Amino acid sequence: MASQTDSIVQASLAALLKDSSFLPELQDKTRHQAFASLASILSTPNKVHKAFLRISLDNGEIVRIPAFRVQHNNTLGPYKGGIRFHEEVKEDEVINLAALMTLKNALHDVPFGGGKGGVVLTPRDHSAKEINLICQKYVHYFSDILGPDKDIPAPDMGSGDREMDWMMAEYKSIRPGEPYRGSFTGKSIINGGSLGRREATGKGVYFSFRYMLHDFLKEQQTFLSNTGNKFAKTLLGYTDKPMTVAVQGFGNVGSIAALEAYHCSLLQNKVVAVSDRNTMLYNSDGLDIPALIDFTGKNKGDLPTSEEQLMKAGIKAVIHERDQVLEQDVDVLILAALQDQIHEGNMENIKARFIVEGANAPVTGKADEYLSEKGVIIIPDILANAGGVIVSYFEWLQGRETQFYNEEEVFKLLVAKMKATMDSILPQYFGDPFPLRQNCYIHSVMKLSTVLYRQGKLY
Ligand code: GLU
Repeated sequence: MASQTDSIVQASLAALLKDSSFLPELQDKTRHQAFASLASILSTPNKVHKAFLRISLDNGEIVRIPAFRVQHNNTLGPYKGGIRFHEEVKEDEVINLAALMTLKNALHDVPFGGGKGGVVLTPRDHSAKEINLICQKYVHYFSDILGPDKDIPAPDMGSGDREMDWMMAEYKSIRPGEPYRGSFTGKSIINGGSLGRREATGKGVYFSFRYMLHDFLKEQQTFLSNTGNKFAKTLLGYTDKPMTVAVQGFGNVGSIAALEAYHCSLLQNKVVAVSDRNTMLYNSDGLDIPALIDFTGKNKGDLPTSEEQLMKAGIKAVIHERDQVLEQDVDVLILAALQDQIHEGNMENIKARFIVEGANAPVTGKADEYLSEKGVIIIPDILANAGGVIVSYFEWLQGRETQFYNEEEVFKLLVAKMKATMDSILPQYFGDPFPLRQNCYIHSVMKLSTVLYRQGKLY
């Protein structure tokens, strides 16, 4: 497992080892042995599958495209996690992302294990026909290890409902007569997808923040004032205070999180900056997020990059360099682009007091430590961006029942699930010295360890 997740898993196990109320049946030597077994189970994936997909391009050239499926852990249910389509996908990264899925599902009580896939390609460089072939080949190569009760892929960076529809169709034709609806999630509605799945991650990202800053803060004023915890001080400093928000990434996650912030009537939010792979837009009075979403919808997903485009779309904003978004003087920074965005090189320039991880692993271990030390509240990926996999779970359930929920029902269930997790984590976080990420890891590792122990897997 790549270092950051691994070291926090180890630290969480060390904290649990000292906690005598956790698995008290295990004593002394047995206890140490069991914890060593847990460390090796959780820090290595069960299986790493690799293939080189043979694709015939439109121009007749034949290429081999590297593809992975990592099955990290299935203690809590079938492996589950997206397939990333990106030119820089690496095996180690997919292993780390699969481990994060194990922890994410355990944290939110989603009855799945953790998996992740990757295909090394630049989606923009391929025609729809080539992508279709790549999807078919991916399923063809990995069909034995995939399935509704084995391993259930979903979209991730660079892939979406179109790819999931194609993959499910291929799975169905390879395995005629077998259940197929639950083999992939994140499908289009017409192909058995769930209403709300597309918006789920972005909505959940914003909810994790809003819940802490509004509901929890209002209900727990006395508790927060009584703890000497530095994170509680940061949160209390925002009681009824207007807030400025910057969003890095304006894809499926960032744009929806920005829209939620824009429409939110419970907090006094102003989204002053958004960025994408080309540019950053700034307006101190707040950006017109619906107009920007409308623009990206008509322009291949890209934000306006010239005065002319802004004027034509009636959007008031100043154009800046893309990466300036991270160092804006704002209260909240939502990271919804790539991993490793805040690191040792720029952590000292970060001004936000809240960082919400919409992307997976956008803050490095060192930067997390440094910012947490300063009382910055970082809502980690496995807590903040679980909306996607939670609604994937609802999609899988709906596929089994062949009975579908309306959008309102889906969002109600999503919010209830995320609220339950936040309620089990936040009081502890604001009462003890661990950063929120570690609190979440401790919770997940505790659940996984208890289940492994009760299943007799630690002998
Ligand atoms: N790729 C998303 C994630 O990282 C969703 C996974 C899923 O729905 O299985 O959480």
